[in-house]
Amino acid sequence: MKWIEFSRLNQAIEGLTPNKKIRILAKDYPEQYLPFIEILSLELPINNLASKKAMKWITNTLEVFDEEIEEAIYIHGDIGEAMYHFTEDKVDSDFGISQVHRFLCMDCNKSNGDSFLIFKNAFEIMSPLEKKWFLRYWLRTPRNGINAGLVKKLLAKVYDKKEVDIKQHTQLHSLADIASYYDRDETPPNDLKVGRYIAPMLARVVPKEKWPSLCILEYKYDGARYQIHKGDSVLIFNRKGKVVTEKFPDIVQAVTSWEIIEPFIIDTEIYPIESDGKPAPFKKMGTRIHSKNVQEAIEKCPVKLGVFDCMMFNDENLMDLPLSKRLDIINKFPDLTSRSSQEQYDVFYNLAINDGYEGIMIKDLNALYESGKRSVSWAKYKPPRFELDVVITGVRYGEGKRATVFSSYDIAVKHNNDFISIGSVGTGFSEIDLIYLTNEAKKLILSVSNGTHSLSPRMVLEVTCDLITKDSKGNFGLRFPRLLRIRHDKPVSEINTLEDVKNLM
Ligand code: AMP
Repeated sequence: MKWIEFSRLNQAIEGLTPNKKIRILAKDYPEQYLPFIEILSLELPINNLASKKAMKWITNTLEVFDEEIEEAIYIHGDIGEAMYHFTEDKVDSDFGISQVHRFLCMDCNKSNGDSFLIFKNAFEIMSPLEKKWFLRYWLRTPRNGINAGLVKKLLAKVYDKKEVDIKQHTQLHSLADIASYYDRDETPPNDLKVGRYIAPMLARVVPKEKWPSLCILEYKYDGARYQIHKGDSVLIFNRKGKVVTEKFPDIVQAVTSWEIIEPFIIDTEIYPIESDGKPAPFKKMGTRIHSKNVQEAIEKCPVKLGVFDCMMFNDENLMDLPLSKRLDIINKFPDLTSRSSQEQYDVFYNLAINDGYEGIMIKDLNALYESGKRSVSWAKYKPPRFELDVVITGVRYGEGKRATVFSSYDIAVKHNNDFISIGSVGTGFSEIDLIYLTNEAKKLILSVSNGTHSLSPRMVLEVTCDLITKDSKGNFGLRFPRLLRIRHDKPVSEINTLEDVKNLM
């Protein structure tokens, strides 16, 4: 199938009902069904393309100004349609669907300098209609009403299968894989096997009153989801089922060193940590995931593993066992997610936030591993948090390891020409933060009383909390406060005001 044929097909069915779309797609189902299915269902890898970058590449290729394209988008609604009308007529290219599929999968990360040239060379020779559909799929927003659900129905029609069966197979196989089994007249296997990715079970926000009564509580880590398979060797799959083992030699080494000889498939979160082992902000993971220099990325972004489920152990499928039974196996693993069987949600949540984690998960002990499903059996609790820019007005030394640095910081917001205390913050600081703040604070000390050093209000922090409180004496306070970052860039005149605080209450 040529790209122009695929583009014409998309163009023809754009405004039709789902059933008509399926009928026409089935009629034109091509011999090269693999790229066809992957593109239509968007089973494509992340290509690190944001619309801003797409815009830049397009303007550079066409040698026009941003404003010209912006105007065309304003008139036509999206960049694909805009390019269809904007670019001069050209004969259709000779690109086949597989070739364009490769362009669509290309990582557009800036460290990969060739990707722009590949894009430019391809884009220049496409006709307007080809450009339209290339751009829409390149940006992963085809706007034609075709999605994975519709592709499932398409496969059911083309191969004369039941939709429920296809749905079942998607737990273990991509739609393109399912199509290729069907095309060979085979049924996609349903047994678990090292190397065969399992669609992960997903969590949901569930109202507190509907949380499972028989449950286990776990920390919710702010990292990325990985499925680790171990047979003769270790394989690490990302959330999309792509093998990314080579990005994590440190995790491979750790997993290999475990004293578990049976083959297994486990569900895990890998999250970034600071040099003191505390969780680091998620954005740091980007270095690790995208960097081409793995060794450098390991140094820049050390990570930790949190194991929270096991789907296969010693070739036995555990997915149909309740979590209470799976735990017998899960507990064999090192690097387990911190958990508690007590139902004191608030206490456990407080611990999680204070340790620098994102929130907690409440998991139903009776629940099976519901592959591919966003399930109420895994409730996530991550209440909205407030963020405030505050000034430090006082500091106290810590205890133990923190006896030589200021580790508790009194904070205040602005009110007219004065500052009003909103309590103190002592978590979320890295060792480097504490050393830096201690050195700076020493230059600002005004007086000392009862261990508290009052400071000239100069240093600004961005903090987060999940509630703002006011006691009977009218004193404001923050519940579960945490440092987000030191705001070197922010003058004290621009911190939040008492009015802001009252508005958040
Ligand atoms: P969310 O991305 O907000 O929908 O939350 C679900 C995600 O939290 C999962 O896909 C995992 O990547 C992550 N996660 C972190 N800790 C856990 C945990 N203990 N159990 C399950 N998922 C977790």
